[in-house]
Amino acid sequence: MVSSNIAVTHADSGVVTADVLEAVQISPHFVRVTIGGERLREWRHVGFDQWFRLAVPTSGDTRFDNLAGTFDMAGYLKYLMLPRSTRPVIRNYTVREFRPELLEMDIDFVVHGDDGVAGPWAAGLPIGQEVALIDQGCGFRRVEADTTLLIGDESALPAVGGILRDLPRDASGHALIEVADLGDRQEVTAPEGMSVHWIVRRPDVAVGATALEHLRELPPFSGSVNAFAAGESKLATGARRHLVNERSVPKANVAFCGYWRAH
Ligand SMILES: Cc1cc2nc3c(=O)[nH]c(=O)nc-3n(C[C@H](O)[C@H](O)[C@H](O)COP(=O)(O)OP(=O)(O)OC[C@H]3O[C@@H](n4cnc5c(N)ncnc54)[C@H](O)[C@@H]3O)c2cc1C
Repeated sequence: MVSSNIAVTHADSGVVTADVLEAVQISPHFVRVTIGGERLREWRHVGFDQWFRLAVPTSGDTRFDNLAGTFDMAGYLKYLMLPRSTRPVIRNYTVREFRPELLEMDIDFVVHGDDGVAGPWAAGLPIGQEVALIDQGCGFRRVEADTTLLIGDESALPAVGGILRDLPRDASGHALIEVADLGDRQEVTAPEGMSVHWIVRRPDVAVGATALEHLRELPPFSGSVNAFAAGESKLATGARRHLVNERSVPKANVAFCGYWRAH
């Protein structure tokens, strides 16, 4: 995580392995990878923006059995000591949908070109490969508020979509989701009082700038505010700065997390 004030909760489930059952390009910049198998019975499902450390295989020799069950500082140090030839690459992802009755989970990957590991791995439609997950809990804080505000770019679409799905049905406010292409919009199950704004950026504009512009133009919020901002680092920190400095939202009411950093 780049910059963040979200708390991590470590589940007892430890390292949970699963197999890629399906991988489909669902829109111009998204591949949905469905993982499953009996071992997902161990998964602690909490909904909302639940996220996890995803261990991605880099070759047929990759091992998951020597990873630490909690990815805290000690777990990370243990990971760094593993031989490079057999250790997986670790990245952060969100549960897009979990189907306990089928023991299946969908993960939506932004495909962002050839750089990196996880995006290109998903783009290769890795059906049949094994992955491992280490649960990290939710960043969104479930507190009562008059206005709920969610803001993110496409990397946070799974998080914002999950929060909208699991919010109490009487929640009201705004969800701002910035995408590169109108075709990347997804069906979301939002409470009636939540206005969902799909914001498409122009190719020559920095990721997150258009969503921030939209945020600044929202009318004054009524009552208390509970906010969640995630995505490219400047979007997450910029949203927090605007809410705290210009809308007088208490710092403690803004959960923010830089999901990645643009170069
Ligand atoms: C809590 C949390 C939950 C997340 N959930 C999701 C999720 O559900 N789906 C998802 O797609 N991402 C999600 N992310 C973001 C994801 O972890 C990063 O995008 C990660 O960098 C991808 O790894 P990589 O190996 O593809 O690229 P890296 O090796 O990390 O980076 C390689 C290059 O790609 C660029 N890059 C990385 N991500 C993006 C992007 N999204 N768009 C454009 N350029 C990019 C980097 O700037 C860098 O130059 C989440 C992050 C966090 C912290």
